Amino acid sequence: MAATILDGNKIAGEIKAEIAAEVKTMTAAGVRPGLAVVLVGNDPASEIYVRGKVKSCEDLGIYSEKITPPDTITTEALLTLIADLNARDEIDGILVQLPLPAQVDAKRVLMAVDPRKDVDGFHPVNVGLLSTQRPGLVPCTPAGIIEILKRSNIPIAGQEAVVVGRSDIVGKPVAMLLINNNATVTVCHSKTRDLAGVCRRADILVAAIGKAGLVTRDFVMPGAAVIDVGTNKVTDRAEFERLYSGHPKREESFRTKGSTLVGDVHPEVAEVAGALTPVPGGVGPLTIAMLMSNTVRAGKLRRGTGCS
Ligand code: NDP
Repeated sequence: MAATILDGNKIAGEIKAEIAAEVKTMTAAGVRPGLAVVLVGNDPASEIYVRGKVKSCEDLGIYSEKITPPDTITTEALLTLIADLNARDEIDGILVQLPLPAQVDAKRVLMAVDPRKDVDGFHPVNVGLLSTQRPGLVPCTPAGIIEILKRSNIPIAGQEAVVVGRSDIVGKPVAMLLINNNATVTVCHSKTRDLAGVCRRADILVAAIGKAGLVTRDFVMPGAAVIDVGTNKVTDRAEFERLYSGHPKREESFRTKGSTLVGDVHPEVAEVAGALTPVPGGVGPLTIAMLMSNTVRAGKLRRGTGCS
């Protein structure tokens, strides 16, 4: 039986509607949540991401501010800018769009963001809060993965979860969230022996690798829930054929654009899995929704007005 396709756009839409209602209540009480996005230079991909974030704020009634220093900015100047945003009460969340130019000490800049305003959830203080199950700000993509599972009624407690990938941005925090939700969690990486065999144990399999179609059907226990975080642009015809031969819609888009967006999970997995997130339209839309959610949450946590 074919897997149920988990519609990330639909779930993100539900979450955004809930946030919009919350923002309305907060604004009526005189505390409109606010997000500052710092975009250094003119990287086209970063500009697109930032535009999407600002647009989401506008849609949900969140105040937003885009700050665009030139790509010649020094670390010191950027630290001053962050200190100013840290001090402003109407700014609840600060997001520094990565990558930063080579001359900037990115680690120092990210560490300078007040952890209470760190809506990316990357600051070591928030990493510590997550791992000790205290209220804090959780990285957006991992938080979105948990929302997909919960809102699709996929049980987590007591389940075997396998996460492939151990990055600070996705793999580690999603593993921590799964543990906090009482799953039994295994984390795999490039040195893991018998990767397919370990993955086959999973009731919930999360692929956050960055390798197009690496997870094939022999990695997947029949009926498992498979969450595909990977976002890979495939431009090579042979690679495209390996993944999407016989898919007319994909063929059409590959022919017109010369590329297609592919996850870490091979499309054949849909024949084995019980549930599967598509790429695009799976985990991706949740990332922005959870950024909005984190902005609201940051405002509430900082003001001591609820949130557990
Ligand atoms: P990283 O490159 O930081 O981490 C990749 C991880 O995959 C590493 O832990 C690496 O192992 C592991 N890995 C690489 N090759 C293999 C292999 N052959 N077998 C087993 N493990 C392997 O990537 P990110 O975590 O930042 O991102 C992962 C993917 O998710 C990317 O495609 C990225 O674009 C996408 N992404 C999507 C988002 C969304 O909103 N949809 C948001 C963030 C990321 P090791 O540690 O040993 O090197």
